[in-house]
Amino acid sequence: MAEIVLRNLVKTYPGTRSRATDDVSLDVRDGEFLVLVGPSGCGKTTLLRMIADLETPDSGTVWIGGRDVTDLPARERGLSMVFQSYAIFPHLRVRQNIAFGLTMRKTPKAEVERRVAEAAELLHLTDYLDRYPAQLSGGQRQRVAVARAIVVDAAVLLMDEPLSNLDALLRQEFRTELKRIVGTLGTTTVYVTHDQAEALSLGDRIAVLRDGRIAQVGPPLEVYDSPADQFVGGFLGAPPMNFLPARLDRAGDAPALRIGDQRLSAPAGLADHAGDEVTIGIRAENIEVCETDGPDRLAARVEVVEPTGAAVLLTVEVAGRTLKVQTPPTVRIGPGSRVWLAADPGRMRFYRPDDGTAIRWSV
Ligand code: ATP
Repeated sequence: MAEIVLRNLVKTYPGTRSRATDDVSLDVRDGEFLVLVGPSGCGKTTLLRMIADLETPDSGTVWIGGRDVTDLPARERGLSMVFQSYAIFPHLRVRQNIAFGLTMRKTPKAEVERRVAEAAELLHLTDYLDRYPAQLSGGQRQRVAVARAIVVDAAVLLMDEPLSNLDALLRQEFRTELKRIVGTLGTTTVYVTHDQAEALSLGDRIAVLRDGRIAQVGPPLEVYDSPADQFVGGFLGAPPMNFLPARLDRAGDAPALRIGDQRLSAPAGLADHAGDEVTIGIRAENIEVCETDGPDRLAARVEVVEPTGAAVLLTVEVAGRTLKVQTPPTVRIGPGSRVWLAADPGRMRFYRPDDGTAIRWSV
């Protein structure tokens, strides 16, 4: 069992005033693939480096497999790591690079050969074992780094932006490979990225960080679908979640949303918040574009039309605000068109305008 338990980790770098990680607690389950994601400088790498003993926390504890390892050196923590700079040895052939950790551990030769062959097969490197790194593409070098990390069969695998040196196509290809490989191994993995698409596609769960704190942890689709605050909604997704200020009025028994001088039905559970200003959060793909008016539709004007291949992204103006709307590629609407927007109230999320936190309501 190799669950990782982080408790109240605080780290402030010398000469800086703000905390790089600010009281972070997080549980990574045995065999789980957990992604730490967030904008540059939010503390992802610092957190990973504290798990690896590459940074010492000011306070807090790190547990791996039920052991408090906070004061143990990296080699006694049972970890393996892959970093952005592949750090493979240029003077060693691929075979020796992959074998490096095993050779250091004085693993018997036959065992080294067997495990290197297995890892090479998994990463499609069998034909390259006798080459030097300089004779490989960036993607192949990255594969060597991953092979070297998995071959030692550590209980915990830590990866910091391992795909960032690859071009977009290779990155996507290797992301799929990585998911397959780590899934096969079942190793507890913590993976750092600033790329929200990578996080959504790779993680069993994702932890979104902001300013050294965890803003939300959960399965990718849950976090995408119900962001705990506007920061998370705005960070995850391309395009980011739309936000639209509104006021909750009462229309007879039911609550209604007043947006400028227009009105929409609100979920009945929001009745307790009648009179409040709220921010509606809605994803581009949850808005439907209609060519005629009707009940519960918002009048809008199309400003920009962007075909993306699989869909068409519209930028529309509603009550002085700009929203992104995703429509099927078959929809033919030109810029300047007048349209009406409809959305299932169940797909809307609501946030407090003062601090951006989600308003939870009873269904
Ligand atoms: P990125 O995606 O840009 O790598 P990150 O989320 O991994 O960012 P960290 O590298 O953990 O963020 O940095 C968190 C904060 O700590 C940042 O404000 C950064 O400037 C600061 N920091 C990181 N390393 C050091 C250091 N060695 N000395 C001083 N400050 C540091």
